[in-house]
Amino acid sequence: MSYSNYLLKSGEIGQARLEIKNISISYGKNIALENISFNVEEGQNIALIGPNGAGKSTLFKALVGLLPLDSGKILIHGLQVGHHTDCVAYVPQKEEIDWQFPITVFEVVMMGRYSKIKKFKNPQKKDKEAVYESLLQMGIRDLAFSKISELSGGQQQKVFIARAIAQEPHILLMDEPFTGVDMSTKETILAFLNNSKKSKITVIVATHDLNMAAKNFEDVLLLNKKMIAYGKPSDVFTQKNLSEAFGNQVMFLNDRAFIDECCPANRYEHKGVFGD
Ligand code: ADP
Ligand code: MG
Repeated sequence: MSYSNYLLKSGEIGQARLEIKNISISYGKNIALENISFNVEEGQNIALIGPNGAGKSTLFKALVGLLPLDSGKILIHGLQVGHHTDCVAYVPQKEEIDWQFPITVFEVVMMGRYSKIKKFKNPQKKDKEAVYESLLQMGIRDLAFSKISELSGGQQQKVFIARAIAQEPHILLMDEPFTGVDMSTKETILAFLNNSKKSKITVIVATHDLNMAAKNFEDVLLLNKKMIAYGKPSDVFTQKNLSEAFGNQVMFLNDRAFIDECCPANRYEHKGVFGD
């Protein structure tokens, strides 16, 4: 049964778009994710938070069918991963992309249209329009024919988000899009996230910026191999939960919590988190 048939027959649009049911994933003997369960509703934006090695990228790869599950199920619109050719778009972590590959911005973004272009056919007018529209949304229309290797980190991130937008996904996964980019790129991404709510795209963003997540996301999911907490930032970001996720990597300064990734924990005076 095709994905669109499923939607038409069941009439279940508007129910949980994404259901993660008790999944575990390992690389050989190394367990990366253990018994993870949560649902994400249509149009919901959530921040996925956890330290390096927590399993954030592993979860995203499983959601696009790049990794097998040891156990459990992932259902998208009620169907297991594999039934959806283009309904989930994935913006990988910058380190996973070969930026030296000799390809233009236009060509990268057109890749987002591949599942919509018929076999052995060239891109049609509507595909080219979708590419330009995505580039406009990310504010990089003028870079269409630049080589991706010539761009700044922020511009490169925008290109991969434009590729995901061109795919017209229902679910969009962004892996650490705010890492190593300038303020204007962060603002463009946040503006896009705001808009995505109106167009009912479900978005999951992996990040380790706690304050940014608390300020810009209604829901956050705290992960470290196991799911530690999921809900509103004020409920999830308790000192207990953050310490469980980050150990001594998390700093509490006055009423703010943040992750210190390169300095020893004892450099700071520890106080409460969010005023407690
Ligand atoms: P995160 O994205 O939160 O930093 P990852 O999903 O990349 O975490 O990694 C989760 C765990 O899985 C880590 O222990 C990591 O070393 C391991 N891992 C990730 N990718 C591979 C791989 N290709 N082969 C073996 N182990 C991996
Ligand atoms: Mg990662």
